[in-house]
Amino acid sequence: MSSQNDGIIVILSSPSGAGKTTLVNLLSKKKNFNISVSHTTREPRSNEIDGKDYFFVNNQVFENLIKNNQFLEYAKVFNNLYGTSKKPVIDLLRMGKNVLFDIDWQGTRQIKSQNIKYKILTFFVLPPSKQVLFERLSNRDMKDKLIASERMKDFYKDVEHWVDYDFVVINDDLNKCYDEISQIIDLSLNNNQDINYNKKKISDHVSKLTN
Ligand code: 5GP
Repeated sequence: MSSQNDGIIVILSSPSGAGKTTLVNLLSKKKNFNISVSHTTREPRSNEIDGKDYFFVNNQVFENLIKNNQFLEYAKVFNNLYGTSKKPVIDLLRMGKNVLFDIDWQGTRQIKSQNIKYKILTFFVLPPSKQVLFERLSNRDMKDKLIASERMKDFYKDVEHWVDYDFVVINDDLNKCYDEISQIIDLSLNNNQDINYNKKKISDHVSKLTN
């Protein structure tokens, strides 16, 4: 059982391009949550800083971390490996700090299946429309538009995992979406059991996104 003084784990997942990273940064800043910095074998984008956005490592370093049982979870996403180091996260939770994770559905599933003693809240972030999603993916620092098209294909697979999450939010307005997540976290921290969200609305929205 987690104690009153332990921190909680808040996981945000989404198909690529739903604006989750911006939400994670906003939550960290406004609510003073710590962000778990993952390891990845992906190449850094031009605006990314090693040690802040990710720990950028090669395959060999990553494989060693797996062998030495350093990861709380890890997964292959878009042909690269991503993983969350166990120790820094557990240290923070023990100290009563809340930790935010920007990880995919595979990692979320692994963390949830471990029966760790800390409270876990999971959110799945959806884009407002297919068009907005494609625009966001195309505007990134990516080699060419082909990658945006590839990630659109992955979107159809990833979006199906919304059903595994405690809460699903639509990111049509950053501040509104932030407020919604923030309110749910606050209610949950106060052990309020009656947190509801409109599942039918979400299910209809997913149908629209995938048709
Ligand atoms: P990106 O390459 O765009 O930064 O991230 C690609 C995907 O990998 C995103 O869905 C992101 O949430 C996920 N991701 C980032 N770090 C981790 C991690 O440590 N573990 C897992 N399972 N997924 C991660």
